[in-house]
Amino acid sequence: MDCIFCGIADGSIPATTVFSDDQVVAFRDIHPVAKTHILIVPRRHMTSIADATSPADELLLGHLLFVAKDLAASAGLDHGYRLVINTGAEGGQTVGHLHLHLIGGRSMHWPPG
Ligand code: AMP
Repeated sequence: MDCIFCGIADGSIPATTVFSDDQVVAFRDIHPVAKTHILIVPRRHMTSIADATSPADELLLGHLLFVAKDLAASAGLDHGYRLVINTGAEGGQTVGHLHLHLIGGRSMHWPPG
């Protein structure tokens, strides 16, 4: 399958990895929108969160969130940060492999664009 984030997860596409374990890989976004912008992705290909169906998927989604909050703490984002999962065309998803954005280091606004 031709998937950028699968390639990053298996090491065939370079990325600035900040964390990895047997389930997920976290790396710096190539076009950061804030001082800290990290993507946390499952190693196993899932097109989007809409593909999560099983109890194992539920655990995996929880793990993504736990890794994100640990990375936020490691990055010193003590004043807050934003976690985002863009889903589908109207959600603004541009890469078809589930990913969680960890964005921090500046004030955020609401509603998002
Ligand atoms: P989304 O719009 O939610 O699908 O987010 C996709 C994100 O992937 C964007 O923020 C891109 O900048 C980022 N991105 C795309 N290709 C790469 C890459 N090769 N390495 C790191 N980040 C990437």
